Amino acid sequence: MAQKKPEKLIDEKDVRLDGRGLKELRPMKIEVGVLGNADGSAYIEQGKNKILAAVYGPKEAHPKHLAIPDRALLRCRYHMAPFSVEERKSPAPSRREVELSKVIREALEPAVFVEYYPRTSIDTFVEVLQADGGTRCAAITVASLALADAGIPMRGLVAACAAGKVEGRLVLDLDDIEDKEGEADLPLAWMSHSNAITLLQMDGSLTLDEFGQAVNMAVEGCKQIHGLQKETLKAKYVAVKEEVEE
Ligand code: UDP
Repeated sequence: MAQKKPEKLIDEKDVRLDGRGLKELRPMKIEVGVLGNADGSAYIEQGKNKILAAVYGPKEAHPKHLAIPDRALLRCRYHMAPFSVEERKSPAPSRREVELSKVIREALEPAVFVEYYPRTSIDTFVEVLQADGGTRCAAITVASLALADAGIPMRGLVAACAAGKVEGRLVLDLDDIEDKEGEADLPLAWMSHSNAITLLQMDGSLTLDEFGQAVNMAVEGCKQIHGLQKETLKAKYVAVKEEVEE
């Protein structure tokens, strides 16, 4: 059943429907190394989004004609499970999934030292188990951790989140209803280390001034997410080190 639009998405005290402030991220939970059979993996919950990422590689590229002589071929598949959204989604890849696979790969590639592994492929699979807006961003955040968990050398981690405009106000990390009913959505990915933006898209319309503010808001959100990414990776490897020492 389709979600009904409530009368107001933001009340007079600037509190959003789910209780968040305008510049607040959804509650997040991240885990790394969640799958036994992948070289690297990670899982994220961001609000109601639940997304799994798995990485295989670097391994010999197949089919061989796709191998690149001076670097690894980074591939990415973003897929939504049929049960991930309110209205059952066909399991066949949609145009949207093909587009998102491309933008996620392009957001991650600048962070990976692909030149270290010529003629190989690094395959990243993103499975959206439950979607509630902003899945491309959460997919980038979790895939970046899965790449790190696979031990692939990276310049930095990539974190992503959207900012946008809802009922005339700029907000961070839009959920599904804010995305659908709002005036603008601006997903952005940010790479730590070089402070570079590796994805910037926009749906809807913003003034030039709002655009600048939304970009800054999204970068701040990414920095918070990056903090959580680092903590999660550290916690895992401290635990592994302690196990080895015991
Ligand atoms: N969505 C859906 N069915 C679909 C595709 C998307 O219900 O087939 C919902 C889902 O909650 C998704 C949201 O629409 O997160 C926004 O989709 P969009 O294409 O803007 O990408 P996203 O914001 O997830 O990166």
